[in-house]
Amino acid sequence: MKDKAYGLGDIVEMKKPHACTLPNGKKANAWKIVRLGADIKIECTNCNRLVMMKRVDFNKRLKRVLTHAEESEKEAILKKKEAINDTSRKNFLEYRE
Ligand SMILES: [Zn+2]
Repeated sequence: MKDKAYGLGDIVEMKKPHACTLPNGKKANAWKIVRLGADIKIECTNCNRLVMMKRVDFNKRLKRVLTHAEESEKEAILKKKEAINDTSRKNFLEYRE
């Protein structure tokens, strides 16, 4: 399960690619985790479409983590979110322990 450990800002690949296509004709399948709580929000890195799903569904659909986010990236996302939702930060920290 180590290869499936994910965090905020990470770029992940899902079992099902997005419906949009890359300039090279392949289906886009790189998503950035922009919210991490009971619900997880991911953003298609190709078309910027946001998709929200329950964490349990995300775990089922996740194929692998492509890139782990830099600390600065995580902080930037957390700073943006914490005014709106303090729970996502708490869940994020709990998850990483
Ligand atoms: Zn897309």
